[in-house]
Amino acid sequence: MKHWKERILQMKFGKLVKRLTILSICVILLGGILSVVLLQPQISQITSAVQQAEQIDGDREEHFRDREGWDDRYGISEPTLPVKGTLLAIGAVFFVLFAVWWLLVPAWLYQAAMRSQMNTLLWPLLGLIWSLWGLLLFLVIRSLLRQRCSSCSTWQRKASFCRTCGAKFHVTCPVCGTDCTPGDQYCSHCGSSLLPNDVSKPAEEVR
Ligand SMILES: [Zn+2]
Ligand SMILES: [Zn+2]
Repeated sequence: MKHWKERILQMKFGKLVKRLTILSICVILLGGILSVVLLQPQISQITSAVQQAEQIDGDREEHFRDREGWDDRYGISEPTLPVKGTLLAIGAVFFVLFAVWWLLVPAWLYQAAMRSQMNTLLWPLLGLIWSLWGLLLFLVIRSLLRQRCSSCSTWQRKASFCRTCGAKFHVTCPVCGTDCTPGDQYCSHCGSSLLPNDVSKPAEEVR
């Protein structure tokens, strides 16, 4: 059996989020419909009670403020035990689903922190407490402290070459020494060609 840390590192979150979204929609729809069906007698009782109350006196605010003893006054029956049990089960499923979504954030943060050599304790912890705010903070801090290799998409400490695939992060102009972005074909400062086999002449002079 694999260690849980390795499992998190190998998790494919894109796929997982897709599946979980579909599952969540199904569960919410099914749970919602089932709850409404099961509570149908209570719902109709409440509706008629509200209508009655509105008829008795027009002052609605008074009724909503005076909620105590509402059940007794308007005769709303208690759901039966099987109904209560089913509702409790639906609630439990909802809770588990919510917990899975919540735990997904620290799990993703653990993986991302590990992959970009950031703190693997602090970030998942912030994700656990702050959830999406922790995630947002991580994304901001990572973009400040780390860079992403355009060739292999790995995040790493700022450097001259990619640690994973060896791609260049910085291209220096051979003529004037300006730091150019990898992929640029000409120096933005002096116009010299940055292509490896090209003669380093300014673009406008090539005829
Ligand atoms: Zn790379
Ligand atoms: Zn230059």
